[in-house]
Amino acid sequence: MLICRDCGQTFEEEEAKTVSEYAGEYWGAPARREYSVCPYCGSEDFEKAVPCEICGEYFDPDEIYYADKWRICLGCKDEIEKKYREWTQEIEAAFSGTFDKIEQAVIGELQMDGVID
Ligand SMILES: [Zn+2]
Ligand SMILES: [Zn+2]
Repeated sequence: MLICRDCGQTFEEEEAKTVSEYAGEYWGAPARREYSVCPYCGSEDFEKAVPCEICGEYFDPDEIYYADKWRICLGCKDEIEKKYREWTQEIEAAFSGTFDKIEQAVIGELQMDGVID
């Protein structure tokens, strides 16, 4: 799978259009230069696309984040970071709730024992 850096479209290698261009004369015979272009916009600027391991979509290798052996797109990386932040907040909230309850129970015990007012 290839990805065009100009229009962002992905396409298979065999879908790439071959352009044959007149490139002057070579020993009296017309020479042609052949090259592949994006079938969508005709750009020569395309790259081997890398699939994201989370959403499965193909991306420009520059738009892929490499985490250990995982390759994930920047969109999925953002999602993970957002979820991670939510999780840490939930965990903190859950624990701070537990600490509050323990604190209240201890304070209640001490009050019953007359240790504190
Ligand atoms: Zn293109
Ligand atoms: Zn992704």
